[in-house]
Amino acid sequence: MSEPTGAEDAPPALNAAQDALFLDFDGCLVEIAPRPDAIIIPKELGKTLTRLSERLGGALAIVSGRSLPELETYLAGFDGPMVGSHGAESRGLGQEAVRPEGLADLQQAMEDFCAENGLLYEPKSLGGGLHYRAKPELQLLTERFAAELTTRFPGFEVQLAKMAVELRPGGVSKDRALEMLSHIAPFTGRRPVYAGDDVTDEPALAWAEAHGGFGVKVGDGATAASHRLAAPAQVRTWLAAALEDC
Ligand SMILES: [Mg+2]
Repeated sequence: MSEPTGAEDAPPALNAAQDALFLDFDGCLVEIAPRPDAIIIPKELGKTLTRLSERLGGALAIVSGRSLPELETYLAGFDGPMVGSHGAESRGLGQEAVRPEGLADLQQAMEDFCAENGLLYEPKSLGGGLHYRAKPELQLLTERFAAELTTRFPGFEVQLAKMAVELRPGGVSKDRALEMLSHIAPFTGRRPVYAGDDVTDEPALAWAEAHGGFGVKVGDGATAASHRLAAPAQVRTWLAAALEDC
């Protein structure tokens, strides 16, 4: 943590009566793995989230770039609201999924590109991911290919992520997801607290800071958040402490 970001303070304890908690998944609740399907889910994570949600009057939501079905699998035991695919789909919020034209063709093109270049293709329910972690020298090629896809499939946008380039439906983002959630009970009127680790989380961290709450940046890197935790293990400790204190 050598960068002078001004976001070095650990977050304060959660206030069960006042806070709404929004949590990213990968790199926030669980450690990033070499492959997206190789993450290790801590035992009881889903149940812990359920208990915390109960303490917060239901004002806890997962906000992730992952597909909703994956989140539901990984967080079995948590039945609360979830926003997946960067905001394009959700559970328990009465929102219709954003499903642009050409999804199947886009996914086929992505899969072919990965097969040709030895990259890992991550299928997602409303887009996909091109992972160059195993071949970082192909970052530029991958980013160019993704940009080309958005001209062929104008309903989709490029989303840069950690060692990956994603295509997701246009017009969605995590800060827009928070804006949407803030108008839905029981989130309405509560102080927004958002925790996330990636560039995709920065708009949401900034949104929480700008709306009377605060952001918690997980890991290194410049951020709009006023607080920081080193790694998912520290996030889980912070959440566990909230369960005892609330
Ligand atoms: Mg993340």
